[in-house]
Amino acid sequence: TYIRSPLNTIYRRKLNWVQLAGHKGNFKAADEGTILKKFSENEMQCFEKLRDDELRPFVPGYHGVVEKDGESFLQMTDLLVNFDHPNVMDCKMGVRTYLEEELVRARERPKPREDLYRKMVEVDEGGPTPEEHRQRGVTKPRYMQWRETMSSTNTLGFRIEGIKKHDGSCRTDFKKTRSKQDIIKVFKDFVGGDASIIKSYLHRLTEIRQTLNTSEFFKCHEVIGSSLLFIHDSTGKAQIWIIDFGKTTGLPEGQTLSHDVPWQEGNREDGYLWGLENLFHMLESISNE
Ligand code: ATP
Ligand code: MG
Ligand code: MG
Repeated sequence: TYIRSPLNTIYRRKLNWVQLAGHKGNFKAADEGTILKKFSENEMQCFEKLRDDELRPFVPGYHGVVEKDGESFLQMTDLLVNFDHPNVMDCKMGVRTYLEEELVRARERPKPREDLYRKMVEVDEGGPTPEEHRQRGVTKPRYMQWRETMSSTNTLGFRIEGIKKHDGSCRTDFKKTRSKQDIIKVFKDFVGGDASIIKSYLHRLTEIRQTLNTSEFFKCHEVIGSSLLFIHDSTGKAQIWIIDFGKTTGLPEGQTLSHDVPWQEGNREDGYLWGLENLFHMLESISNE
């Protein structure tokens, strides 16, 4: 007979767990149903504030800071745990993926990096400027701005970072996926043409949009580099979660953002709601076909 041992559970979870962005070393498996993400003061503060915010039902459960092997981690709920062979997509939201302060720092003390230069050349030989070719280096904001123009970040206010499908296949090569048609194609393939999944996602997006419109947290934070994590499986279960607050930053007391007007350096706008609107209409157009 089949005995469900703890070891078995861990094995199953390892097979199930998938990371679609970030450094591989940043995550660790943890107690049943949770994961550990490398500690950041900023992200911890966000999770703590989100505990008392209306957005709480849309972010992973937060279980505090834990130490493991001499390192600190934030413990959170593993969003994949109740799915059977889930399909997962990471969509990075907003018209900008770096903080204004990163831009200022790079201008004052530019630090050209060779690893980023190489990553740029790999995708587009003509990406670097003659100067950057000469020094074989590009700064981080410059690399990120370039990625924003290659992808749909600037033109649609979101971009696809990665997808894992139920069969285990994984794709993170969306650096040049920019046009509406291409993104629609990726989404259709992701849901396997299942219209009811799209309907469920639209429903969840509507709830998220409504809640963002009244959330105190959202009003007074610049939300940069945060993603919507889409998850569904063959039982028809479909959810969307707001994840990654590593670069979500509080504004000075009394200041708020509208999240749907263009960014100009200094206004700290992130285009989050504008991107959400575009994403919504795109899914709607698939649903209406
Ligand atoms: P980056 O800043 O490069 O996007 P990061 O190190 O901040 O990466 P996250 O974006 O928070 O990491 O997470 C990376 C990936 O890990 C996500 O794309 C998702 O696939 C997975 N992931 C993160 N949090 C969870 C969670 N709570 N449950 C399930 N999967 C998660
Ligand atoms: Mg992320
Ligand atoms: Mg991050």
